[in-house]
Amino acid sequence: ATPIGLLAGTGRASQMGILISGPQVLEDSRGVDTVVLDKTGTVTEGNMAVSNVVAFGNRDAEDVLVAAAAVELGSEHPIAQAIVDAGQQHTTLPQVMGFSSTAGGGVTGTILTPDAQYKVAAGRSVFIAEHVEGLTAEHEQMFAEAEAAGATAVWVAIDGQIAGIISLQDQIKATSAAAIAELKDMGLTPILLTGDNEHVARQVAAEVGIDPAHVFAGVQPQDKVDKVKELQAAGRTVAMVGDGINDAPALAQADLGIAMGSGTDVAREAADITVMGSSVTQVSQALQLSRKTLQIIR
Ligand code: ADP
Ligand code: MG
Repeated sequence: ATPIGLLAGTGRASQMGILISGPQVLEDSRGVDTVVLDKTGTVTEGNMAVSNVVAFGNRDAEDVLVAAAAVELGSEHPIAQAIVDAGQQHTTLPQVMGFSSTAGGGVTGTILTPDAQYKVAAGRSVFIAEHVEGLTAEHEQMFAEAEAAGATAVWVAIDGQIAGIISLQDQIKATSAAAIAELKDMGLTPILLTGDNEHVARQVAAEVGIDPAHVFAGVQPQDKVDKVKELQAAGRTVAMVGDGINDAPALAQADLGIAMGSGTDVAREAADITVMGSSVTQVSQALQLSRKTLQIIR
């Protein structure tokens, strides 16, 4: 039988836009001492916008943007949505064949126009390295400069050659800093986990009050779950908060998985709790509520 206090807690939670997969979840959250936060879409809005496009060789910036946008149409990543939006402002996007997507890496596809056919790849460094030849020190430097400026930078390759770099900016949610301060007041350790680059991760962490020692950047999707396991092996009881397909295994591995309501179905299915307002504030509310509810029962 479910104790009546737990049921009341679940009801109170749903009034607050916090959906709990079962009454035992509140009890599971009791021991949590560490809250791992995915960056993009969790601490930040995940509404990226293209802020700059650099083109190499005989391409111009519009060629690079439109080629990337056509291929990104097949991806639901926030980066993809931003590139598609920017590309569509220029032209109707050409048709793509053979789309393929690598979580935490990037996308590829072949663009078909009436008079040409060419392969496009867009993504992070380790991903693009598998699709191009002739990556020069000059290219690398341009990419490093974009990242140093605080952008999320994406490589674009056309027919196996580096064609350009697209810079994107995201915004930190207005509620994130206060909510993370609340987590710390509750004695919880916030940790930032992201596939994005070190510069962006550290900048976001500094703005929301996460200790630089608690930032893990450039983490591949399959390694997110290992980070959670590592923390658990070190004796921590971990709540993981995420929104993406790439976060789902880590959400399932965590002692408590919390999904953003605005996130992907896959993340919500893997989670114990879904917060409909998609703010870290509700994460802290859920954890506070579970503490209160269990005090009432005991
Ligand atoms: P996060 O943990 O911040 O949600 P992901 O693990 O989803 O990030 O992605 C990590 C990195 O992989 C991104 O910062 C980007 O460089 C690259 N990437 C992922 N998906 C795409 C995509 N559709 N297009 C281009 N780059 C991508
Ligand atoms: Mg995310």
